[in-house]
Order: sequence, then structure tokens, then C-alpha cells
Amino acid sequence: PVVTRFAPSPTGFLHIGGARTALFNWLYARRNGGQFLLRIEDTDRARSTDAAIEAILDGMRWLGLDWDGDTIYQFARAERHAEVAHQLLAAGHAYRCFLTQDELAEMRATAQAEKRPFRIISPWRDSDPASVPQDRPAVVRLKAPRDGTLTIQDRVQGEVKVNAEEIDDFVLLRSDGTPTYMLSVVVDDHDMGITHVIRGDDHLNNAFRQLVMIRAMGWPEPVYAHVPLIHGSDGAKLSKRHGALGVDAYRDELGFLPEAVNNYLLRLGWGHGDEEIISREQALEWFDIDNVGRSASRFDFKKLENLNGHYMREADDARLTDIAAFHLGEMLERPLSAGEQSLLLAAMPSLKPRAKTMIELAEGALFLFDSVPLAFEDKAKAAIDAAPPGLLASLLATLEDLPDWTMESLEAALRDAAESKGLGLGKVAQPLRSALTGRAISPGIFDVLFLLGREEALHRIKAALT
Ligand code: GLU
Repeated sequence: PVVTRFAPSPTGFLHIGGARTALFNWLYARRNGGQFLLRIEDTDRARSTDAAIEAILDGMRWLGLDWDGDTIYQFARAERHAEVAHQLLAAGHAYRCFLTQDELAEMRATAQAEKRPFRIISPWRDSDPASVPQDRPAVVRLKAPRDGTLTIQDRVQGEVKVNAEEIDDFVLLRSDGTPTYMLSVVVDDHDMGITHVIRGDDHLNNAFRQLVMIRAMGWPEPVYAHVPLIHGSDGAKLSKRHGALGVDAYRDELGFLPEAVNNYLLRLGWGHGDEEIISREQALEWFDIDNVGRSASRFDFKKLENLNGHYMREADDARLTDIAAFHLGEMLERPLSAGEQSLLLAAMPSLKPRAKTMIELAEGALFLFDSVPLAFEDKAKAAIDAAPPGLLASLLATLEDLPDWTMESLEAALRDAAESKGLGLGKVAQPLRSALTGRAISPGIFDVLFLLGREEALHRIKAALT
């Protein structure tokens, strides 16, 4: 059975690269009828925070990446990690090392002077355990192989080899007896029964160290899949400017839907033919780590936006209304009333085809909740000033006389008015739109009139005339 895990360090938000790692692990487990586990790697006590843990859990729930069983907290397992180090010590696969900081610094300096790579060669490695001092602080180091090569058949990177010389006798237990990260990861992966380790390729070097320890313990080796990191659109390391933001920012500040983010992350480094739009069901049918590309993928906001626009058009209006109400609440700095929410729901069919993000959608809806006097954008003011004299007044009269306020009657009335004045519809619509919304861009003019309703629409035109 397949068991995968996502193992974030809660030292910051759930960033977009982490979310992709989580998604790949989730998909691989679900596709193979396996389990997907979550382990919070909170051993860095100074940098791990509860807020970050919350953000990670919240982000995973929002993306719909449910995990099996309880969340594992790594720090709580420190005793178990130390126990394994002691087993390795007892079996002769590890040793107490009494090298001091000064001695290590000296070895480093010598290596530098001789222009060779620094590698710890501890004189304690081969000393008789019975004769080593008992009263001096020591770290516990793993005995890494001294020669030969180590090979990983990585499902993404292919065969990767490293000379054993490059792997030093890394520390398992610090001199205060606390386990190192490298030790904790291996023990946890083993105890959790992880069969497939899918993670960023920044961990590939660690994989060789981890493998040495797994072999020393005689544990089964997991399948490795090291996924290339995400780069910015310019090929540089992903930074804030490129989209290295928390998943919460994609939801709250940028206004993306989780299905769009999932689809986008899935396509980032993985593909199924030319398919761009891939539903979760299809992803579950098609996903395999073997099709993950070997080169770094580039983050492309435009693509994400296009996908988001697609999923918004497909989404249920009531759901979009809830999300848009949240954003409008932020923008207006007050919650929407029940009446305003109904208005928003009624407006949804004309709002959603025009927007690519929920932020754009909410901005496009703001006009509904304005009140007279409107704060006019410069362009809107200019459109009113540039209108043929008397145009708005005559449109007002036409609309006041309209027997019923439906999309059809509004459209017919405006088309007639434009024709009788020898103007294109746009020439009529633009100043009218400006008068009604205070903005140069809005949903279609008939929608605007219809959604505002007769009373509010006429009120706004009169206000613009004075
Ligand atoms: N905690 C590590 C990270 O956040 C992941 C370790 C692993 O997947 O083995 O990058």
C-alpha cells in the first residue's frame, strides 16, 4: 500500500511550492488507494509558531487536501528519535564524537588553505567505545560509508549518484542529547510507514544522508521523487514578487478559487498531453509522479488568472456570492446586509463573465453598494463632460417613462434613443454608465440599469445632472 506524507516546517505560511508538494503527495496517495499523512516538522523551536501551523492546516483544508489520521508533530517524538540514535550507537553504526568547535574550525581552515572541500574526519570514529571519555560532552555521529557510490533511483530525477566521500558523518544527536532534523525525518518516515517520499529537489542531498541511516537501521527504503522547484517567470528563484506568497494570500488578497489554484499547481511541472483544464476527478485518474518534468517550472500569473476565470464561470452563483461578500466586506470595511447579499446574487450572472479573480469581481460589484453622491473617477467625469449636450437629461426622461424595468425594455429603449440621436450605442452608454456607477468600466449598461433598479438608477442620473 502507498503511504505518502507532507512534512512542512511551520516557520512561515503554507507557500505555493509547499502546496504543490502537498497536492502531488495527496494525488499520488489517493490515486493509488493509499494514505496521505501530515507531519508538522516543528523541531526548530525558535522559528516554529502556532500561527504558522494554523495557516498550514487552513491552507490544506481550503485546497481540499484532506489527510488521514492525526496530524503528527515531530517535536513530540524527540524521545523516540533519540532512542534510534542509541540503537545505532549500540550497533556500532554511530559513535560519540568529542571534537570541539575549535578543532572543527581548524579542520575547516586547513581544508580551505589546501583548497579541498571540507569534510569531517573524526578521530573518534574508530576509537574503542570502551575507552572514550564518559564525562565530556559529545555529539553522536553516524558512520557514513567511506568509499563507493550511493545511488538513488529517483522517480523524477532518474538515477542520481553521489560519491560516498561527499557524505560526512553527520550528527544524529547534539551534545545536549536532542535529535537533529536529519535523524527525526528518517525515524518519522519509518514509523509512519512512508513508502513514497515526494518533495522539493532541494532535499535531494539530504536523501543520500537519510538513505545511509535507513540502511544502517536495516529499514525498507522509500521510493524517492524529488520535484524541481518553482521559479519566477524570469527564471530566477521564486520570490514574493513572483508569487511566493502564502496560500492564504491567493485566497484573500488575490481572490483565487481553490480549484483554480489546484489545477494551476498540478500543471506546474506535470502534464497530461495538452490538457490545461484538469478537474480533480481527471487528476485522480491521470496523475503519476513519473510524468513530473525534471526542469524547474516557471510561475505564470496570467495562466493562473485564466484558469481562475474559467472556474469562476463554472462556479455556483451562491458560492461566488459568499466569497464576493467577504471581499466586498473588506473593501467597504463593513459587512454586507442580507438585502445587499441578495442583490449581489442577482447580479452574479452579469458579474462573473467579466472577472478573472474574485477581487476583480468584487470591484466590479462595488457600484451596487455606492450611494449618491458617487465618488467619480476622472475618466467617468470626463465621459459625462464629453457627452452631447442634453443627452443625459433626455435619457432620464426616456427611462422615467419606461413602463416596465426589464433587461429587454431597457435595451430597446436605449437602442431607440441612440438611433434617434444618430449616435452609436457606445456613445450613449458611456456617459450613462459614468453617471450610474462613477466609473469608466462596469458590467454591461443594461445590467447596470437593471441591477440598480428603477428608483436608484433614476436617482443617480439626476444627481449626475446637477
Ligand atoms: N520540513 C521540510 C520542509 O519544509 C520537508 C522535509 C521532507 O519533506 O523530508 O522543507
